[in-house]
Amino acid sequence: MKYQSTRNRALTASPAAAVLRGIAPDGGLYMPEAIPVLNWQSLLEADTLTLSARILSALLPDYPDMDGLVRRGYAGKFETEELTPLVKVGDRYVLELFRGPTSAFKDVALSLLPQLISQARTLENIRDEMLILTATSGDTGKAALEGFHDVPGTKIIVFYPYGGVSAVQQAQMVTQEGANVKVCAVRGNFDDTQTGVKQIFASCDEEDLPGLRLSSANSINIGRLAPQIVYYFKAYADLVRRGRIRVGEPVHFCVPTGNFGDILAGYFAKRMGLPVGRLICASNRNDVLTDFLSTGVYDKRRTFYKTTSPSMDILVSSNLERLLSLLTGDDSYVASLMKDLNEQGHYKVTEELLRKLQSEFSCGCCDDDAAGRTIGKVWAQEKYLLDPHTAVAWTVADQFSHTHHDGAPVVVLSTASPYKFPAAVLSALGQRVSDDEFAVMDDLHACTGVPVPKNLAALREKPVRHRDVIDREDMLSYVLRKAGEKQW
Ligand SMILES: *Cc1c(COP(=O)(O)O)cnc(C)c1O
Repeated sequence: MKYQSTRNRALTASPAAAVLRGIAPDGGLYMPEAIPVLNWQSLLEADTLTLSARILSALLPDYPDMDGLVRRGYAGKFETEELTPLVKVGDRYVLELFRGPTSAFKDVALSLLPQLISQARTLENIRDEMLILTATSGDTGKAALEGFHDVPGTKIIVFYPYGGVSAVQQAQMVTQEGANVKVCAVRGNFDDTQTGVKQIFASCDEEDLPGLRLSSANSINIGRLAPQIVYYFKAYADLVRRGRIRVGEPVHFCVPTGNFGDILAGYFAKRMGLPVGRLICASNRNDVLTDFLSTGVYDKRRTFYKTTSPSMDILVSSNLERLLSLLTGDDSYVASLMKDLNEQGHYKVTEELLRKLQSEFSCGCCDDDAAGRTIGKVWAQEKYLLDPHTAVAWTVADQFSHTHHDGAPVVVLSTASPYKFPAAVLSALGQRVSDDEFAVMDDLHACTGVPVPKNLAALREKPVRHRDVIDREDMLSYVLRKAGEKQW
């Protein structure tokens, strides 16, 4: 199977090369030339790691030992062997994606990506070291650092928006150990940081970085997306096993969305054959996707809001490009839309494409107050503690349930532990919040009894190791300087 750029089908790569490069040379994203359809019914009884290996082998067929990679990637890192438990909360289901080493759903993909990249380096006969560049709105950064630190043949630089992440998220990153890691704050928001990284990819060639090859741990990398498909199948299998649905009946999934990676993985699952019902795209006050799915106009020229769900504070959702490519199959059309977005800041899709989008996706958004009320309500009624991102999805699932009464289960994807955002959660419970976020963690625990994940509890003892802060114009020179330093 070949991968091809969303903007030019003639730019192809093997699956391993697509994983190594992260982004196609024309700035497009790599897509499989055809999405493989799985005999998923035969996998309903499989354990998560077997399921994972089967799905990944179908998408990345040139990898010889996917079983081994999957086992090495996940062994002992998650709180449970099933990785992503499905929990019944009221008449809904919560798919807990945050039981990994950094308590965010990014761990599902980033535990495996280093294995996929290392193996690809061997398959493609690369001698150079890989330099992983990552822009983060808060969670990717730590999950990537955790996945890549001290992995032979790799170095990683993480850029995060200065003041744009929670105190816990920042502490997670700046205390990171490892001889191959750098963490740097950028004065700007996440979109600035992500644009900066994309520009570095576009402007650096081999002479600029002797002995190094750039790659990305962001969800533009197909190696990030593929592992996320697995938990849709797993949730479906759990619902069958519990007798909630019969094989073949639809399940709706409500996904707290930022860069459109998580929800796109759900659409991949559907194209691979899984009976996915509606995919509900939930946004916070940065509602660019709600507008787009309602009107067909994508317009990033709008106010950027900092919210209590910072990992969704995004105005340019990169992976949407992959969906446009899947639904149209037209590379020059996708290229023209992306050109409009880059040059004019907006684009409008055809009526036909809008109808296709709306036949698969529902959407909704809510502000911080509504998400906070949901945290309070779900705690009071169900004694289940939602993080602010999951609360956005729950709120939008409430909106959806008002208009959809088909009896199909609704699964809300839960993307972070509430202890990653303790201040917002504690205040949603009506409690006073002190300035010290670690004290707030303790207070949240005292007030709810919900256990604090070990990795977060251990943070406050750790020394700060990374203090770099730069302007966004200086990201390229930062990378070039670090690339030249022998000792990190
Ligand atoms: C990254 C992230 C999201 C958004 O996921 P996308 O794949 O970017 O849409 C939502 N919630 C949390 C907690 C995240 O870390």
